[in-house]
Amino acid sequence: MSEHDWQHMALALELARSAKGQTAPNPLVGAVVVKDGMVVGLGTHVKAGEPHAEVHALRMAGEHAKGADLYVTLEPCSHQGRTPPCARAVIEAGIRRVVVAVEDPNPRVAGAGIRLLQEAGLEVSVGICAAQAKRLNEVFFHYIGTKKPFVTVKTASTLDGKIATRTGHSRWITGEESRKRVHRLRREHDAILVGVQTVLADNPELTAREDGEVRGRQPLRVILDSRLRIPADARVICDGHAPTLIYTSDKAPSARQQELEQRGVEVVRLPDGVGIERVLESLGQRGVTSLLVEGGSAVNGSFLEAGAIQKVIQFFSFKLIGGQGAPTSYGGQGFAEMQDAIPLADVEVEMIGSHDLCITGYPVWG
Ligand code: NDP
Ligand code: ZN
Repeated sequence: MSEHDWQHMALALELARSAKGQTAPNPLVGAVVVKDGMVVGLGTHVKAGEPHAEVHALRMAGEHAKGADLYVTLEPCSHQGRTPPCARAVIEAGIRRVVVAVEDPNPRVAGAGIRLLQEAGLEVSVGICAAQAKRLNEVFFHYIGTKKPFVTVKTASTLDGKIATRTGHSRWITGEESRKRVHRLRREHDAILVGVQTVLADNPELTAREDGEVRGRQPLRVILDSRLRIPADARVICDGHAPTLIYTSDKAPSARQQELEQRGVEVVRLPDGVGIERVLESLGQRGVTSLLVEGGSAVNGSFLEAGAIQKVIQFFSFKLIGGQGAPTSYGGQGFAEMQDAIPLADVEVEMIGSHDLCITGYPVWG
């Protein structure tokens, strides 16, 4: 691998990133065609059903693709989907060498695209910028590998880690800019999840809003409520802005279930109780690939104890609340010893406006 290979793949990754939030259920993919050291074609997969990144890049390159190198962030596909297989298009365009960041984990591809290229006599290099390429499609890689949604736990706390005061008051902990960011985050997820206690305390809408208006794609709203204590007039039940799904257990009265179902809400009874693993399996089966967990303390604690968090986004406001009884970001039992603490990798720290801090990281499970 040369310095140029890194540069061209970095460009392909940048192109892929430019379509963030608009390619579902497909991954983000970018491609660059290089001939004699010059970039002659650029491509991004912009939307499911539209041409793949390689096809756009090859079209731009035209005749220059003959004898050129192709850099692509994900293995070219080998199967006939909504569009013809890209590996064939690459061969037919006369590309000489293909540099692939990472193999496609989709079982319909999984190396078959690379083999097709090699069998046609093309030189193929795999693995350059692989970690970045996987992170770029973190949801896609996780969902394909586990059949469960990629879980991001987002919390907003004061500097002393409190997510509400001792009386349960939590509006607002962070400033407007952070809250705007949260609405964007919601739009990027297939579903949002909270515990029933948060619905009782805050009566949240759990919608993605812009300037106060419910706008764009709305995630599925998921509530964990083993006894169906949710009020029938809660916003998530009545406002009709997005579908709502409640996970409950056999402890819940049937009459309550009927009452909620009549209001258009789906209620799923889990026979073994509302455990995190069961909930994730069920959401995965429904095709939910990404889940944003928004608390409260008890629910976040359960996800932590289940080892079921792929990403943490924590907003801190420069405020102090104090109070033994005020809930912290992650409740539940917690770990007994420091060596059990879960470290975060690839941590990013960002100031949001002048009053909040946002820390993002990836838990490393032992
Ligand atoms: P939660 O919102 O976490 O809800 C907990 C309840 O959910 C449990 O009591 C339980 O009720 C039900 N539940 C069902 N299954 C599970 C499970 N597997 N794990 C955990 N709970 C489950 O409650 P908290 O009281 O901890 O948090 C609420 C507080 O947090 C409020 O004051 C709210 O304002 C604040 N908050 C702050 C946020 C912030 O970012 N600043 C975000 C969200 C909330 P049951 O047994 O009846 O099923
Ligand atoms: Zn393709």
